[in-house]
Amino acid sequence: MKPSAFKYVRAGSVEHACALLAEHGEDARLLAGGQSLVAMMNLRLARPSVLIDIGRLALADIAIGTGSVRLGALTRHRMLIEHLGLRRMAPVFGETARYIAHPTIRNHGTAGGSVAHADPTAEIPGLLVLLDGHVDAASQGSVRQIQGRELFRGAFSTSLKPQEMISALHFRIPAGRWGGNFLELAERVGDFALAAVGAVVERDGEQVTGARIVLLGAESVPVRASAAEASLVGERLTESVAAQAGAAAAAAQRCYGDVRASAGYRRHLLSELTRRALLTAYARAGAAA
Ligand SMILES: Cc1cc2nc3c(=O)[nH]c(=O)nc-3n(C[C@H](O)[C@H](O)[C@H](O)COP(=O)(O)OP(=O)(O)OC[C@H]3O[C@@H](n4cnc5c(N)ncnc54)[C@H](O)[C@@H]3O)c2cc1C
Repeated sequence: MKPSAFKYVRAGSVEHACALLAEHGEDARLLAGGQSLVAMMNLRLARPSVLIDIGRLALADIAIGTGSVRLGALTRHRMLIEHLGLRRMAPVFGETARYIAHPTIRNHGTAGGSVAHADPTAEIPGLLVLLDGHVDAASQGSVRQIQGRELFRGAFSTSLKPQEMISALHFRIPAGRWGGNFLELAERVGDFALAAVGAVVERDGEQVTGARIVLLGAESVPVRASAAEASLVGERLTESVAAQAGAAAAAAQRCYGDVRASAGYRRHLLSELTRRALLTAYARAGAAA
């Protein structure tokens, strides 16, 4: 199918894009990598009358600070895999991004677009919630911060206002010895996941000093397994402790069923992926300098 008629405007700056959003309101859509929006327009699931192309703005950059990573909104998925500093400081970014679609889509798709699109099992939104992240939402004359946990409202729904544009994403990286891991299962390589889990473990010697677990496929938004996280602090993360945490994390979720997987199967996957991700993250934290 072909999209319905639309006016095309290329934004020259973030301010210009925000001014255009303010002018056209809900009739307008931002075009970033186009990897979700163009398909939706062709299927007429989206019918913007004005398309504001932000794809060439200078927002494709990665900045590593002390305890933080900042991604410009147009950072391509591929950059998360290839960036040398990120590979050294937080390899979980590249590990997560490798699960997104295929190389051509990773060359075009952007971090900001993925978060704004808010597919329930998209990897970048999961990473944002796992790493206690937030986004900068720019509008005419102001920028507000939205925490990842408050950004996602439901499948394909966020708390962004029609006149707001994500300009950057910020992630919090643990200070001490830590390891991360992201695992998922999809029907075919490159498909959206049936279920996915991200884990971060901080440790002092054998003892866990902090844990973060995000589950994708449990709800229509990424959810943190807070009770399971808390149960790990002070523990030595053995096979049985990881299995208990995985079972507890999954049991606490409602989980949804659809044509691709039943709720029970998703719960089983979340339990098993959590167990494995925790053990790998813990081992990596032990190996960290
Ligand atoms: C075959 C296929 C398989 C895929 N598989 C996966 C997968 O496994 N995992 C995954 O995560 N994704 C997958 N994707 C989607 C891909 O990751 C997209 O890149 C991503 O969802 C959207 O990013 P984009 O830059 O292309 O955004 P676009 O398609 O340009 O825009 C998507 C939406 O976000 C809005 N938007 C874009 N940028 C901003 C911004 N800065 N601020 C506010 N709103 C904005 C747009 O207006 C639009 O509503 C797949 C896509 C395809 C075609």
